[in-house]
This record gives sequence, C-alpha cells and structure tokens, in this order.
Amino acid sequence: MPELPEVETTANLVRPGVEGRRVRAVEVDWLRTLGGATVEEFTRAVVGARVARVGRRAKYVRLDLERGGHAAGALLVHLRMTGRLVVTQGREPTPEWRKVSLRLDRGTLHFLDVRKFGRFTFHADPEAALAHLGPEPLGPDFTAEGLASGLRSRRRALKPLLLDQEFVAGLGNIYVDEALHRAGLHPLRSSASVRRSSAERLHAAIQDILARAIEREGSSFDTFYRTPEGKPGEYQHLFQVYGRDGQACRTCGTTIRKLVVGQRGTHVCPRCQPVPRGASRAGRS
Ligand SMILES: [Zn+2]
Repeated sequence: MPELPEVETTANLVRPGVEGRRVRAVEVDWLRTLGGATVEEFTRAVVGARVARVGRRAKYVRLDLERGGHAAGALLVHLRMTGRLVVTQGREPTPEWRKVSLRLDRGTLHFLDVRKFGRFTFHADPEAALAHLGPEPLGPDFTAEGLASGLRSRRRALKPLLLDQEFVAGLGNIYVDEALHRAGLHPLRSSASVRRSSAERLHAAIQDILARAIEREGSSFDTFYRTPEGKPGEYQHLFQVYGRDGQACRTCGTTIRKLVVGQRGTHVCPRCQPVPRGASRAGRS
C-alpha cells in the first residue's frame, strides 16, 4: 500500500503534465471512487477549473483548483491498495483499470485502480478535509522534541501510534517497521517508556528513511505500486526488516521475525529491538 514516499513520487511525476492545465471534461467509470459525490456534482466542481498546484499531504495527492485566479477547492487522491495516477497524451490505459479520467486542455490524467479501494474526491474546503492530520514527517512541524513529548503523553504501543495519521502523517506499515528497527525500538513498546535519546533516534530514522525512499521513487514490494511512468520503486532493495522474516538481520545476523501487532504484519529483529518488559508473549505469531 503506497505510503508517503510512493505518494510523493506520484505527485512529483504527474505534476509536469497536470499543473497549469485546464479540465475540459471528466469521465467516471466507477462511481464509488468519487467518495459519495454524484457524477453531476463532480463534473460541476471540476470542469472548467485550472489545476493550479499538484502537491502531497499525508498519503493524499492534492490538486488545487482555480477559477479566474481564485482558489476553487481541491481534488484529493488516495491511492489505497492499488490506485495509480498516470498522464497520457493520446494512448489510453487499460479500460477496466480506469476509474476516473480528467480530460485536460493537453493530455489526460487517469486514475487507475485494480482493486477499487482508492478515492478521487473533490473538496470545496480542502483544509477542513485535512485538518485532522498530524504533522508532515519531513516538514518543520515534526521535531524531535515534539515527537518525544507526543510519545510520552500517549500510552500506546509504538507501532499503532506511528500508523495513526493524526499522530504523524504519511507513515504506513513498511516505513514504520523500518524506522523502529533503525531506532532499536520494539513495535509493542509503550510510547510512554521511550527515553528522550531513543525518541531522537526514531525521529532521525523516520526522516532519513523517508528521504532515501523518495530518492528511490518508493518501494514496490508487490506487483501493484508503480510510478506514473510505469516503473517500480527501488527502496525495497534497502529494506532491513520489512518482508524479510526468516532472513538474517543485516545489522546483527539474528533471524528477523514476523509478529502481528494491531492486525498488521510487523517485522522485527529480536536482538536489535528488545522485547519490552510485560509484553514478552503479546503479539507473537
Ligand atoms: Zn538485528
């Protein structure tokens, strides 16, 4: 499932073909993708608008719209499991994957989604729609100090807390497992027990891993995630724990284990990430 680096890559690669373009027409092949709007409502909101900016917030690609030089809402695209954005000039993608298409004054932006969980929604007030989200992990609001105090004030296991988009935005299963391993923290460890020095290590790990994953255009762990240019990401080759259960830890040689934490497959090195006291049986699988 695409996380921050994959969504950032998607936004970066569709931007040149979409930013500044005007929407001439829309085609909707799967109504649920619009998140509750009718085709008529969606068409009225989008056709005739200019895409002023393409960006990312959390795991959303955000397309800000303008009419007559004034802000006119935004499209938020959530790729979920298998969603992809592609820009085409002429040649059309496989029709059964296509869910929404924006015909632009040059080219077409297609939202493809094999499993149909993705969303392509219009918001008149995008700030309100995004208000619940926590800080961007690569932005100025995500500081080591803020993370340390946030961990202390919550009493939750680290893994589900870091997956919570209201705590910090954009992280998912892959990058949380990788960051906890780099920081030497067990996923079941209570956030309140994390010392200041470990919180600083975790903060640095999150930022460094995300930045490197963006440089490599994300991770293609399964067959689904591809960049808008159709290429797989490259960061999966650098995974230390994710998907490596049964293999040797690249740091210490201990066999990587897979646990289930909060219903999510979770990869840990039992030596680099010592089991917290009182949780020695929990989460084993
Ligand atoms: Zn290890």
